[in-house]
Amino acid sequence: MIRLHVHQPLSAGAALAATLGQSRYLTQVMRLKAGDDLLVFNGVDGEWRCVVAEVLKKGAVLRADTQERPQTYGPDLELIVAVVKKARVETIVEKAAELGAKRVRLTITQRTNADRVRLDRLDAIAEEAAEQTGRLDVPVIDEPVKLEAILDRWDDGRRLMFCDEAGGAPVASAITEPGPWTILIGPEGGFSPEERERLRSLPFTTAVSLGPRILRADTAAIAAMTLWQAAVGDWER
Ligand code: SAH
Repeated sequence: MIRLHVHQPLSAGAALAATLGQSRYLTQVMRLKAGDDLLVFNGVDGEWRCVVAEVLKKGAVLRADTQERPQTYGPDLELIVAVVKKARVETIVEKAAELGAKRVRLTITQRTNADRVRLDRLDAIAEEAAEQTGRLDVPVIDEPVKLEAILDRWDDGRRLMFCDEAGGAPVASAITEPGPWTILIGPEGGFSPEERERLRSLPFTTAVSLGPRILRADTAAIAAMTLWQAAVGDWER
């Protein structure tokens, strides 16, 4: 069944105006007509069965019918990733949504030398991936912030899984606590010796290895999230 993310409150009988893009997708791509069903979520009110109430020129109107699933959230997993080439950042955001991260924070490190990012495009990618994957929330994407600034304002209750291309512990044995975690992936140029030293000295850091081969940032992000999910995430359910 088609799933759509909306920004409006969901309750029995609520009328929802689909955006123009969503309406086009629903009526022209998926060929839905008035009276057809779809599933809708907004990240707060769970998943609702909705019906296409009206198809108008300026967009479709949907009406919420019954709640199919109450709201749930996945494990508290964040990803911090240095800005890399546009296509790789897009892959990382899409895969983070599929692999259950709740937030992707873009960062600028000493060796970051990539283009600017288009947050509106990344939000749309995260939203589409969340719709496709069945989750009930959409990951938040943060605009690029310097790594030092992120580390200066760290929340002490959160642990950092530092993926260090220079070596570290195997994820399966080093990541055993369930608590909130953030995975850190560097840019194509890797981390500077100074950054590595600071990262490793922080009390909340666990430096891990992703094996003997150097991976591209997008592959590293996918591998790291996969290993984390298998170790302490929700893959055992
Ligand atoms: N230019 C660097 C590689 C950077 S790869 C070099 O040649 O050493 C981009 C990022 O992916 C790294 O900063 C790291 O966070 C992650 N990464 C890639 N391969 C890794 C590995 N084998 N172990 C841990 N992290 C890795």
